[in-house]
Amino acid sequence: MKLSPLSCVSVALAFSIVHTFRYEDLVEHVNSHQEQYVEALREWVAVESDSSDVSKRAELHRMMAMTADKLRAMGGNVTMADVGEQELPDGRTLALPKVVTAEFISDPQKTTVCVYGHVDVQPGKLEDGWATEPYNLTEINGNLYGRGASDNKAPVLAWMHAVEAYQALNMELPVNVKFIIEGMEETGSNGLDAMIVAQRDTFFSDVDYIIISDCGWLSPRPALTYGTRGNCYFSAEIEGPKQDLHSGVYGGTVIEPMTDLIGILDTLISPSGKILIPGIREAVAPLSEEEKKRYQDIEFDMENYKNKLGVSQLMYNDKVELLSHRWRYPTVSIHGIEGAFSASGTKTVIPAKVNAKFSIRQVPDMDPAVVKKQVTEYLQSVFARRKSPNKLKVTMVIGAKPWLANTHHVLYEAGKKAVKRVFNVEPDMIREGGTIPIARTFQDVTGKGLVMMPIGGFDDGMHSQNEKISRYNYVEGTKLFIAYLHEVAQIQRSRV
Ligand SMILES: [Zn+2]
Repeated sequence: MKLSPLSCVSVALAFSIVHTFRYEDLVEHVNSHQEQYVEALREWVAVESDSSDVSKRAELHRMMAMTADKLRAMGGNVTMADVGEQELPDGRTLALPKVVTAEFISDPQKTTVCVYGHVDVQPGKLEDGWATEPYNLTEINGNLYGRGASDNKAPVLAWMHAVEAYQALNMELPVNVKFIIEGMEETGSNGLDAMIVAQRDTFFSDVDYIIISDCGWLSPRPALTYGTRGNCYFSAEIEGPKQDLHSGVYGGTVIEPMTDLIGILDTLISPSGKILIPGIREAVAPLSEEEKKRYQDIEFDMENYKNKLGVSQLMYNDKVELLSHRWRYPTVSIHGIEGAFSASGTKTVIPAKVNAKFSIRQVPDMDPAVVKKQVTEYLQSVFARRKSPNKLKVTMVIGAKPWLANTHHVLYEAGKKAVKRVFNVEPDMIREGGTIPIARTFQDVTGKGLVMMPIGGFDDGMHSQNEKISRYNYVEGTKLFIAYLHEVAQIQRSRV
């Protein structure tokens, strides 16, 4: 077909309209749709998608179906991947919630991002001390209270609304967007690792970057997260007499497993927080000047932190020391002793077998396999010095590696620009003390760049009572995602 000069002009005009980033119009769209966004969150929070409670599994399946329906309604190419079954402690098996994937491909030549999120939640019961019904989204003073509001339903919805805003204004997406939404995050992402491996050369083959928005800011200032700690979780079991004994009858005649156990546990860490297991501290990457400077620049109120925790003294009194020990140094935490007498009252038992649970948070350049060996050998040697006839067995039950990104990576530079555009401030560059194992899996299996872009508030109470997200974070967070898609597209242009 031969085009007339006039139709050439109109084609060119239509082309330029499609490709222009009309940020103000997108912002206007978000502002005028915030009631719908809150309603969408209300609908999602109303689903008790608690992945830890097997009696709620039907609700979890319903939540995955709702997620798929929404993405389908947006025009995405949606699949629900079967990731197998879960074996319960009593031997029964239960279908895992399907993993939802969706693709919004506007142009195969463009950069493709994949947004990861989860729509399962932690348990939430009114009697746990909630001020409002956990599954009934309730707005109080600009905060939207509800289980899963911040972790992770609002951020997942915000990503969807960001895509919808472009669609509503007839603007082509600046990058292709894929979603991978799971329903078992709160209990260890069962089935997801295998699915990522299985789809590495299919779903993930054209993905350039992975985005996770499953954490929060550190203060009222927006933040980008560039690291998480891993975790090595141990059990140390000491077995002595063949049955529990009475301390009045047998006390003083046997070497008690509990005394042995407390004795060896006390050699793990000093009162001032120094890890005493040889080799652990030596493996930690040294703190660079740049990193130290970054901590100095972070907005963080020590007094507020202390008050929030209800403690009179912290392990460190200096902000840089405190933050670095929260994020970039390992620590030992002792969680409990199975088999110990823990009820009220004054039972005079000598437990025959006790099992301590403790974990060591992992940071670069620690390696869980090496840590396992170091901890086992150290505890066995400490125990041997006690010359006890009891038996010690050390097992590592979880070995999750840490994750760390380069803050100068193009994804982070794009993130800083997006934060600046929406909030007019530089983001805090922060790390998480906790573990998001799936980040490491994504990176190791797919080899793609990964960014963590939180929109949750610092006081959202994820996992605890009265979880909330503020309307401000939810709405401005949607704008952040809109801006971020645009900034990521600029990476491609400068790269070409
Ligand atoms: Zn989460």
